[in-house]
Amino acid sequence: MTIAAQASRMRFHVDGWDPTYGSSVENAEYNIADSTAKVTPHIELAPADWKPISPSQVSAPGAVLFVDGVRRVEARIWIEQPPSGFVDGVRRVEARIWIEQPPSAEPATSTGNTVRDAQMALCASYAAGTVCCCPDRGAHLLTIDYQRGLFTTATNAADVPTTAGTYKATITPDDQDQNLAVLLSTALQRQLTELEVLVATHARTALTGHGVPDGSDLLVVDGPLRGRTHLPRALGFIKSHRTAYLPPDLHAMIATLAPGERSPVFLMGTSWDRHAWYLRLPCTPGAPWAGIVRLECAADIPAAAAIELANLSQALLPRYASIEYKDTRAPQNLVPVAGLERELRRHLGNPILLSRALRVASAS
Ligand SMILES: [Zn+2]
Repeated sequence: MTIAAQASRMRFHVDGWDPTYGSSVENAEYNIADSTAKVTPHIELAPADWKPISPSQVSAPGAVLFVDGVRRVEARIWIEQPPSGFVDGVRRVEARIWIEQPPSAEPATSTGNTVRDAQMALCASYAAGTVCCCPDRGAHLLTIDYQRGLFTTATNAADVPTTAGTYKATITPDDQDQNLAVLLSTALQRQLTELEVLVATHARTALTGHGVPDGSDLLVVDGPLRGRTHLPRALGFIKSHRTAYLPPDLHAMIATLAPGERSPVFLMGTSWDRHAWYLRLPCTPGAPWAGIVRLECAADIPAAAAIELANLSQALLPRYASIEYKDTRAPQNLVPVAGLERELRRHLGNPILLSRALRVASAS
């Protein structure tokens, strides 16, 4: 059976549960105590000589490109599962979906030969884009890309066409050891990360005509650099800290950084490796780690190149720091990134209209 044929027969209902609920679940995937990280502190200074590093004179890049992505769950839906005995490929049973109240968690509450079981799925929108800060034009939107997706473990799921766009089905293998909401949220995050990687990779081609000399730009990815360490002059910008990577004495030094100062560059790694350093953005004195961000770049570049990037980030990023009365995530939520996020969310569309379009599609 073709996907189109399946889609035309797939019925679904929108869950009444507020889809914005579950941010803690979304965060859960990052909330991994990373105690296994290996740290090599003697990249720039020997551990005994570690001290806060003041800003140095650097030449400004031709342009700074900030890359970020946003995601939004539009609805939780419930997809009916075929009764057991029907084997995929032998006889596809239509996938019925509903977006109302979730059914009982208990399976096999069969009414006649229809509902046997249902699986929760997510309909989500996600977008990624680039903002360019260049001398000629200041901060301006450079690229933007958005998608809609249906995230599910139901093997009978198909794309969901609506008047507001088609939710492309991503079927994730079920994992009995993993909470379904976390599993689907992770699948959504994976797709968003893929889109962010794509956007970051293509950002520089969009710079043509900016009068920015080749190789003079700097790419700043909001969040970890994963999937993008191959890009030259690229930094990951990490705003929140859940893990103490450094040994206790070096970790304690981070809290002593003055605004504008940074830590020496170090290498860290778990399943991945990075050059990294901490930087304190300008902020009013407060909590010991107020205004601290971690920056990272590729591990496979010479230490001198990583130190150069660290100096560049230190000279550059404080000027983009946000101000407390304007941004609740100040100063770490950089002004161009906050603007980009607003623009990305606008591109996702009106959530009320999107929800209505899904309900209409489920009823047809
Ligand atoms: Zn520009």
